[in-house]
Amino acid sequence: MILLTRRATFSASHYYWNEAWSEEENRKVFGRCANRNGHGHNYTLEVTVAGEPEPTTGFVVDLKWLKDVIERQVLAAWDHRHLNLETREFARTIPTTENIAIAAWNRLDSAIALGGGARLNRVRVYETPEIFAEYRGPKMGPAATGASGEEGVR
Ligand SMILES: [Zn+2]
Repeated sequence: MILLTRRATFSASHYYWNEAWSEEENRKVFGRCANRNGHGHNYTLEVTVAGEPEPTTGFVVDLKWLKDVIERQVLAAWDHRHLNLETREFARTIPTTENIAIAAWNRLDSAIALGGGARLNRVRVYETPEIFAEYRGPKMGPAATGASGEEGVR
């Protein structure tokens, strides 16, 4: 198995706010990020797929195809959007880097599987060059380690 990664960038606005909390509590926990007018980031999304190179092409997936999947599934919905106000995922979920990585996985996983050649292995979302969140799917938690592997390695 080999891992192949494609990087994409998008710009989006967000703010952090927990509706269950008071304004004071939100400001205490989220600080400047609680400003409900939002602020922007230039995010970098790294999408890693896993598979075997196809013998006739040497490709795990066609990178043009993967670029199109990322654009259709993620960038079309998120690029130049206000994540809290304009996307279904973050109408109630706080658009932290962590939650953006999970939502990107959910947008990409089945679309990549439909390609037939590889599986989504890892998603990374960089909010800044110094900070990123990584998600390897719902099975990445401690419960997945040491499992019998009946569904294969991802
Ligand atoms: Zn932010």
